[in-house]
Amino acid sequence: MFTEANSNTKYLTWQEKSFTVLDMTDLLDRIRVCDRCPELCKDRKNVVIGEGPIPAGIVFLGEAPGAEEERTGRPFVGASGTLLRTMIFQAGISGYHILNRLKCRPPDNRPPEPEELINCRPFLKEQLELIKPKVIVALGRYAQSAFIAGDPLDIKVTRIAGKVLELPEYRVILTYHPSFVMRHRNREIQRFFGNHLRLAKQLEAGCPLSVLP
Ligand code: SF4
Repeated sequence: MFTEANSNTKYLTWQEKSFTVLDMTDLLDRIRVCDRCPELCKDRKNVVIGEGPIPAGIVFLGEAPGAEEERTGRPFVGASGTLLRTMIFQAGISGYHILNRLKCRPPDNRPPEPEELINCRPFLKEQLELIKPKVIVALGRYAQSAFIAGDPLDIKVTRIAGKVLELPEYRVILTYHPSFVMRHRNREIQRFFGNHLRLAKQLEAGCPLSVLP
């Protein structure tokens, strides 16, 4: 079901069944029956595909669903997701899309395996082609590894947080995963994270990087 936000924007939840856009229906159907990662699809209760308007100016990209996300079929609804959504609201951002690298929950919330990231990558690519964001906020190393070559474990998030990758299709802001922000309860980290979210809003509005603070 779509809710009109304006003439160009249609809201949908990927979990909803009534679509009017064939591409989305097809993608949703393929993700629901996907068995590329045997360990992840074996006992899965729900795939977690994403949530938000299509198209959307900003995409928040995370790692993989946790227990609450799998139960509800919605991304970022656990404790760290609540922190993220609150801080997004405080940054004045609305009409964003939110999704994960993996659509299925790894057992015991373990980190994604490299082959699982590769398996799920085509779905992410299709989603981004449909959503057409101007800005992607990459939350943590597994989100960032979609844009940075090499082993995700080599990505030092605290060193590169706040940097922006200028890609032909969109800009990618590298920042912390909200669970890191929540765990550390560090005001500096929270302030930096808030700044990175505000940066997303400025970039979406078309501000050139050189004039940003
Ligand atoms: S994580 Fe992605 S590729 Fe792996 S089984 Fe789930 S939908 Fe398929």
